[in-house]
Formats: sequence, structure tokens, C-alpha cells
Amino acid sequence: MSKVAVVTGGTRGIGEAISIALKEAGYVVAANYAGNDERAQAFSERTGIKAFKWDVGDYEACQAGIKQVEDVLGPIDLVVNNAGITRDGMLHKLAVDQWHEVINVNLNSMYYMTKPIIDGMRERGHGRIINISSINGQKGQMGQTNYSAAKAGVIGFTKAMAQETARKGITVNCICPGYIDTDMVAAVPEKVLESIIAGIPVGRLGQADEIAAMVAFLASDKAAFVTGSVMTVNGGQYIAN
Ligand code: NDP
Repeated sequence: MSKVAVVTGGTRGIGEAISIALKEAGYVVAANYAGNDERAQAFSERTGIKAFKWDVGDYEACQAGIKQVEDVLGPIDLVVNNAGITRDGMLHKLAVDQWHEVINVNLNSMYYMTKPIIDGMRERGHGRIINISSINGQKGQMGQTNYSAAKAGVIGFTKAMAQETARKGITVNCICPGYIDTDMVAAVPEKVLESIIAGIPVGRLGQADEIAAMVAFLASDKAAFVTGSVMTVNGGQYIAN
């Protein structure tokens, strides 16, 4: 029987590439999204992957969304916590809502999405959880105290969860992408982007399918001994561990 994967924010950008790569790897994929119905519908028609709408920043919505996916597709074997947002600004100008929104969608969602599926994974003795952090959670980024804090939190969450679940056949890993060519990066002012690219040793932005390839590896049986890891995929922009 095919394994079932949920990809949050799975209908565009990095998440879209992840959804497609997991389908190619044999998973039945549920792609979650927040509100962009048109984009989600076009994605589903193009790929044959079902899209499910809920807000990963809302615990009850996650519980209901996960139940809906399991009712339609069966027990979830893999969760890719990919959905994320930015609300940038220097802290002295950052509104309290900008802080809370980013912490909620990017970090609280780790709990909201993992809590409802973890008992089932523990009972079945198998599972994969892959969390998308960021280079800016590793190194910090001016203008992104909220985002950097949330993404650093994702790394801590991953390491703790990996220890809790290793004996139950569940691996938990995270990926820290560098700058990837998606809508999120298209929102960065051109001059800023030029200086970012100048600081990437390979000399270009990453592509979404380069992150998806790492997800597909971590999702595979070959990665059974990899857990609690922080996978850096950033063109050499920040070399750390
Ligand atoms: P995009 O902005 O291109 O896409 C974001 C996706 O997340 C969309 O599918 C969107 O749904 C969904 N989403 C946003 N908020 C919510 C929510 N509250 N509930 C459910 N879904 C939501 O992002 P990217 O593909 O660029 O980024 C994907 C992940 O990778 C994020 O976590 C990001 O922080 C991280 N990342 C990205 C980098 C980059 O350079 N692009 C670098 C490092 C990390 P909808 O279409 O409905 O709006």
C-alpha cells in the first residue's frame, strides 16, 4: 500500500516541488495551503495531487485538516512542515502582530501539525517528520528577528522530537534552505537580492527542486539512520553545524 504524506504550504514554491517529488517517490500526497484557491486548484489539475485548505497557525484547524486527510487518504506516514511566512521589519519598527503572526505560522505550527499525528505514528512504529527551517534561523538576519527566532525554534523542536521518537521508528529532521527562487524571495527588493546573490558562493539562487530532492532522500527508507539532523542546502552561503 502507498504511504501517505502531508506537505503544508504544498501547492506553490518549495512546497509544490516537495509535493511533486514525493508523488514521484511513490507517496500519496495531500498538499495543504492557506488561502490561494486559484493557485491550489491549478496545482491539483496539473499534478493530480489533492489540495486541502487550512491554516497551520490554528490548532483546531490542523486537527480537523489532518482528520480530513486521513479520512480521504488513510493514516499519515510523513509530514513535511513547510508552510511559512515573512513579516519583515527592524525590531524597533516591528508591530506586535508581525511578531505573533510569524511565530504562530512558522513555529507554533510545528506543535499544531505534529501533535495530532504523533500517536498514530508511535502506534504503527513508523513515521517521518521533516521540518523546513531556514539559513536565517541558523545565522540570524537583520530585519527578521521574528522569522529568525521562529526558524531557530524549528531546529530546537526537531532535535528534541528526534530524541523522543527514535525508538519508535520515527525520524525527525530539518532542512535549512538558503535563498530559493520562489514568490517569497521575489518579494525581496531587487538591490537587496543582488547583494544576497553576490554573497552566495555558487553564484545563484537555489531552485525549489533542490530542496525537494533533500526531502525525498529524508523521506526514503535509505534515510532510516538519519534523525535529529539539520541539513544545510544553501549554495555555501553559510557553512555551519
Ligand atoms: P511561498 O511564499 O512561495 O509559499 C508559501 C506556501 O505556504 C504557500 O503554499 C502558502 O499557501 C502556504 N502558507 C502560508 N501560510 C500558511 C498558513 N498559515 N497555513 C497553511 N499554509 C500556509 O514560500 P516558499 O516556498 O518560499 O517557502 C517555503 C518554506 O521554506 C517556508 O517555511 C520558508 O520560510 C522556507 N524558506 C524559504 C526560503 C526561500 O528562499 N524561499 C529560504 C529558507 C526557508 P497559499 O498559496 O494558500 O498562500
